[in-house]
Amino acid sequence: MAGFFDKVKESLDKGVTAASVRSKEMLETQQVKSKLGGFQDQKRSALEVLGKEVYDMMAVGGLDPEPLRARVEEITSLDQQIAEKEQELEQIRVRAEEALKGGGAAASAAAPAAGTKFCPSCGGQVAGGAKFCPGCGSKVE
Ligand SMILES: [Zn+2]
Repeated sequence: MAGFFDKVKESLDKGVTAASVRSKEMLETQQVKSKLGGFQDQKRSALEVLGKEVYDMMAVGGLDPEPLRARVEEITSLDQQIAEKEQELEQIRVRAEEALKGGGAAASAAAPAAGTKFCPSCGGQVAGGAKFCPGCGSKVE
């Protein structure tokens, strides 16, 4: 009986964990997306203003790049912030995937390293290259 309830609890725990990973991912994604949207809006209006400034100068017969430089720098820094936010979104997605995979990474970390041998006498793990078992001292081929 206990085994049955343990199994039910275990599957419930897994479900809850997956759901909480997903909802955390969604929340973080929304926060980053709203900031990203803000930067994209700022960039759009900065480009619009830059266009108008260029137009006004051209309309009166001359283009002076000096006053436009600050506007261009502003757009460049917005581009950087947009790229950072896009990277953050990717990181959130990757972290959630890793969390959902759960024990996968831990299990592979616990697996014996390449070259590991097993003692023919006691079955213990012997590091690759070792001549004798650290457990029982038997000679290992
Ligand atoms: Zn041994």
